[in-house]
Parts: sequence; C-alpha cells; structure tokens
Amino acid sequence: MAGTKTGDFIELITPFLRRKMSELEQRCGMNSAEWRAIALQYVKNPVEAAVSPQERRRHYESEIHLQFDGKPLAGVERLYRRTVLLEPTTVCAAHCRWCLRGQYPVRTLREEEIINAARYFGEAEECAGVDEVLITGGDPLMAPKLLRTAFEALAVRAPNIRTIRIGTRVPFQDPERINDNLLSVLTSLPDRRIEIGVNVNHPIEFWPESRAAIARLKSTGATIYNQHPLLKGVNDDLTVLAELYSLMRENGIEAHYLFHAIPMQGMRHHRTSVKKGAELAMRLSASGEFSGRAKPHYALMTDIGKIVLYEGTIIARRPSDNSLLLRSGYRLEDRMRWNPSWRMPASVEIDEEGFMCVWYKDGEDEAWSELGLWGNLPLASNDIGPPANSVAG
Ligand code: SF4
Repeated sequence: MAGTKTGDFIELITPFLRRKMSELEQRCGMNSAEWRAIALQYVKNPVEAAVSPQERRRHYESEIHLQFDGKPLAGVERLYRRTVLLEPTTVCAAHCRWCLRGQYPVRTLREEEIINAARYFGEAEECAGVDEVLITGGDPLMAPKLLRTAFEALAVRAPNIRTIRIGTRVPFQDPERINDNLLSVLTSLPDRRIEIGVNVNHPIEFWPESRAAIARLKSTGATIYNQHPLLKGVNDDLTVLAELYSLMRENGIEAHYLFHAIPMQGMRHHRTSVKKGAELAMRLSASGEFSGRAKPHYALMTDIGKIVLYEGTIIARRPSDNSLLLRSGYRLEDRMRWNPSWRMPASVEIDEEGFMCVWYKDGEDEAWSELGLWGNLPLASNDIGPPANSVAG
C-alpha cells in the first residue's frame, strides 16, 4: 500500500516486476540505464532515511474532515472547484519510492463509507459545482469490489458526477489484474465518461504484457492518459522522455502532467532542479521528435495544488532554503468554500490581487554518481509475492 503504519514505507515489488528486473539484469546488467530505471523506482535505498529537519512526511493537505449526515467523511479530498477525490484503499501492487502518499496512514474504506462519500458529492451544498471524481489511493484497481461499489453509488447518489477518473499503476506493475471482472466494472456506467490516469515513467516499462493491459483498458472505451514525475536517473533526459512520449502515442495514451518530483521526506535523491525540468519540458515541447498531440504540461505539486510553470510563474527565490515563490490562480476564499476544513499552509502569501502565492522547495542537480549513493545495489532477497493485505475483488 502507499502508506505506513510505523513511519516505514516498506519495499513492495510485484513478482512481475521482479521477473522483469531479473531479465534486465541478465540482458543489460545492473549498471544499465534500463535496470536502474526500474530499480530507482522500486528498490528501497538507505538514503531515504537521511532526512533533514526541513523535510516533511506529507506534502500537501487536502483531506476533508467533516461530518455528513452524522457520519465522518473518510477518504475524501478536495482542492479544486469541479473535482473531488475518493480513495477507496491505500493498497498498491508495488511501492514507488517517490510516492507522495508513501507516508499517508494505511486505510481501506468500508462500503458504507464509500456510499456516504457518494451521497456527499451528490447532495452537499458545497459540491453543487462538482462534476468530476478522481478515484485514487493507493491503487483502486487493486480493489475491484470497492471500485464497483463506488461506481454503483455514484450512479445512484451523485448524478452530477459526469466524469470518473481512476489513477492506477497496475498495468505496469501487475498487468494480469486487468481482467474481465475489472473490465466489467469499467463498462458498467455507459452514460459517464471514464478516464484512466496511468503513471509510466520510462520506455522500458512498455513491456508486452503492459501494452496488452492498456489495450484491454482501451477496449472499454475509456480514455487513457499519463501523468508522471521527472525522476533523477530515470527519465531526466531528453532522449528518454522523447521515446517515452512516442510510446505513449503509439499505445493510445494521452499526455497530461509531467511533474517536478515533490519536496518530501526521503525524496532528495529523486529530485532535479525545477530549472532542469523546465528546460527539458521546453525542449520536449519544441522538439519535432514525436507528435504534438503527446506533449505534457510541466507542473509543480505545491502545498496548495498544481501550478503549471509559465514565464512569470516564479516570482522570487530564497537561497537560504533553496525555495521558489510561485504565483497561482487560487484564491483562499474559494478554497475554504470548496473544502471548509482546509487551512492555509504557512508557505502561502496572498498577493495584491488576492491570489495565493506559495513557497516551493527546489531540488538539486547533482548526478547520482556525484551523490555517491548508488553502487551495484542488489535486489532485495525477499521475494514477497502478492501483497498480503491486497483487497480481493
Ligand atoms: S502505485 Fe501510485 S499510490 Fe501506489 S505507491 Fe505507486 S505512485 Fe504511490
């Protein structure tokens, strides 16, 4: 699961990914870019424990802490006017070391909590403008039974929700889970728009099994898109990104966000500078290497939500803690109306037009070799098999 009970975000790698890593090790070696592209994403590195006092266990806070119909809402987040988040489970097939939810508490909702959330989306006054739900987690495709409950509850209780988005890495971590039972959930609401956000970071992840899983998802009529982080040593390279976006195009996956890796505890070694990301995004956007229909928005996930980087977005730099002040289009009063339990973070300043500006910790550009953090890191010997706490569908 993305999440921890004890503060330790355990290593969790599917048998499928372990097999792929072994094949890459045989074929390319452990010093190859291909092997590292997977190992850096999934193998726990001791450097994660090197935490500075400024680093935080959680990134942004957007959970709604409210009662609805006398019951506490659970697994519901909101930052934006039209979209709400529902998290049926924090269980994942594998643990991505850079996950922003790695330090969230472990939780799987009960069916009645999902129904209560759907009622809230459909009936609460502050949800009058909501027409889209993002079902995320954890990975909702690990819990098809709860996903079916969510679909049924949204159909009956929240007719205002016209678009259902699902965030998942299952097609690239455990593709056999994209089976007929799951597909039957995805086709159960033909009058709603279904969009599936995958997270693929490197061309090597387009395994034949994953391509087939994406094709099965596409056969339901769902739109598939990719949003993913820029990860040092994995995809912070123009050639790698251009190939990744070409493969997305070839497999019918739309480009959405390319995220700068978030500032969070244990993440330093994954993060490039914002500047490096901006240069890569500019080169990608201006390149003729692949279709213009497959080009991403370069975005920073800040304490107050996503901010896409344009000329003039960065308005100040604070060298003392290597932070950038970013302009946003978010107003405090809107945020408080949409999510009454939201509290303005200390990193926010309000500008003269009433918009929130937010301080964001930059990353650094030392190469992995300069950091001296990565030798021939072996695969963890414990092949843990399917997660014991996976939610059977
Ligand atoms: S699958 Fe998603 S939620 Fe789970 S650890 Fe990876 S990025 Fe985080």
